[in-house]
Amino acid sequence: MKQVCVYCGSNPGVLPQYRQAAADLGNALAAQKIGLVYGGYGEGLMGVVSGAVLAKGGSVCGVTPRGLFGDGKPHAPNMQLIEVEDMHARKQKMMQLADAFIALPGGVGTYEELFETFSWAQLGLHQKPIGLLNTAGFFDPLLTMLHHTTEQGFMGQQALGRLLVFDEPQLLLQQLAVAVPTIQLPGEIHQRG
Ligand code: AMP
Repeated sequence: MKQVCVYCGSNPGVLPQYRQAAADLGNALAAQKIGLVYGGYGEGLMGVVSGAVLAKGGSVCGVTPRGLFGDGKPHAPNMQLIEVEDMHARKQKMMQLADAFIALPGGVGTYEELFETFSWAQLGLHQKPIGLLNTAGFFDPLLTMLHHTTEQGFMGQQALGRLLVFDEPQLLLQQLAVAVPTIQLPGEIHQRG
C-alpha cells in the first residue's frame, strides 16, 4: 500500500477527538511511508491530517479543481498540488492515485466522496479497500442506515462487508493493507502520476 486517499471534513468538528484522530492518522501514514492523497485544503481535518504527514516528513499530494478553491498554490511548500478540470475529475484522480481509501468524520463533501468510492467498488470499477475511521462513534448512525439498507433488500451483506470500520488508525491501516489487491483487474481505475 503506497498511497491512501483520505476523505474528511473541511471543518474540524466539535470534539477534540476528531482532530486527534486526524493527527494520529497523519502520523501513522508518515511513519509507514504511505503517501497521503487528499483534497488539498489546509483547514479543518483536511489541514490536520496533511499537516501531520508533512510535519513528519511524509508525502502529501493534494488534488484540487482549478479555480474552485484557493489560487492553485499548495498551502505548504513541501506538498504536491495537482490541479484538475472539475470536481468529477478530482474524485477520479484521487481514486486513480490511491491504493485504499479512508473516510474520517466530515460533512456532505466527505459523504459524497465516500459514497461514490463505495458505489464504484460495488459496481466492480475498482477493487480497492475502503475504511471508516469511526472516531467517537461518528459513523454509527451511517452504519445503522447501511444495515437498514441491507435488511430492506437494497444492498447485499457482501457489499456492506467492503467497509472496514475501526476507531484506531494503526489498526485500520493494517487491515486496509491486508485487503489491498495484489492483482489489478483489466479496466480497473488505477494510474499514477
Ligand atoms: P466536507 O466534509 O463537506 O467538509 O467536505 C470535505 C470534502 O469535500 C473533502 O474531502 C474535500 O475533498 C472537499 N472539500 C470541501 N471543502 C473544500 C475546500 N474548501 N477545499 C478543498 N476541498 C474541499
